[in-house]
Amino acid sequence: MAADQTYKLAGVMGWPVAHSRSPVIHNHWIAHHGLQGAYVLLPVQPEQLGLALRSLPVLGFAGCNLTIPHKVAAMRLVDRVDPLARSIGAINTIVVEKDQSLTGLNTDSFGFIQSLLDAQPDWRADAGAVAVIGAGGAARAVIVGLMANGAREIRLTNRSGAKALDMAQEFGEPVRAVPWEDRHEALADIALLVNTTNQGMHGQPPLDLSLHQLPGNALVSDIIYVPMETPLLIDARQRGNPTVNGLGMLLNQARPAFDAWFGMLPGITPELRAKVHATF
Ligand code: NAP
Repeated sequence: MAADQTYKLAGVMGWPVAHSRSPVIHNHWIAHHGLQGAYVLLPVQPEQLGLALRSLPVLGFAGCNLTIPHKVAAMRLVDRVDPLARSIGAINTIVVEKDQSLTGLNTDSFGFIQSLLDAQPDWRADAGAVAVIGAGGAARAVIVGLMANGAREIRLTNRSGAKALDMAQEFGEPVRAVPWEDRHEALADIALLVNTTNQGMHGQPPLDLSLHQLPGNALVSDIIYVPMETPLLIDARQRGNPTVNGLGMLLNQARPAFDAWFGMLPGITPELRAKVHATF
């Protein structure tokens, strides 16, 4: 171990937080790279969030991740919010700066885009129209990522249509709201389909979406990771479409946070995938 290397702490703040896979991911990288440090669970009740965040520098933390229910509330409590995180409307990573101030980032867009690139290295956001199903928090990160990478047409459809309309108005071109009842037809001539709803998740019914209009070469992404292969992805695979599950987004969103705290962008190995997969 290098003599000048200091012990670094990071963690995930949430309420509840015990279910988080982040300790498995970050502690794997800490051990793999022979670093001195630890990534811990930080159960913090919503009313204690401000105090907990201000304690990070005092306790020697390099930063932390945020999960439910803190991702939006923390934006008002940090010293600065990165512009990409501001457009997503949530922060999932906090970095303690040298002067002890707190910067909020959101790495979910990076995680999503990188998961597509891992599956198809020549994937391009401007290759054709994209259909995004769902207009919740995760959809915002997906859309911001697609826009930042040059997507030219994003068809956004949501069960509660007003939310898709509001989001399309907020983001402007290239996002266009499509009525929920027209979602099946919205798949005609697209290059990418993304499910950002919870439909198909363990304990939920499959997403109610017919793939009959989907072009045979369109990439199909489901950001759900439990189960790893949702009914949507099974359906797409059986039609011969290439597919991407949500594990890649989960693993990739952790990489820039680790880089910000520990000073290196770690990789995703089959060993790490297997380790995280084993926790489901
Ligand atoms: P959210 O903000 O609560 O949004 C939920 C979305 O699901 C909304 O669009 C909602 O539509 C839709 N929905 C719920 N029930 C539905 C139904 N019966 N039929 C059609 N649509 C329905 O949740 P979120 O944070 O965006 O998360 C959504 C999913 O993404 C979850 O499964 C989560 O695990 C996954 N996720 C994965 C990652 C990753 O790293 N892979 C990261 C974040 C999230 P309404 O507006 O009509 O309610």
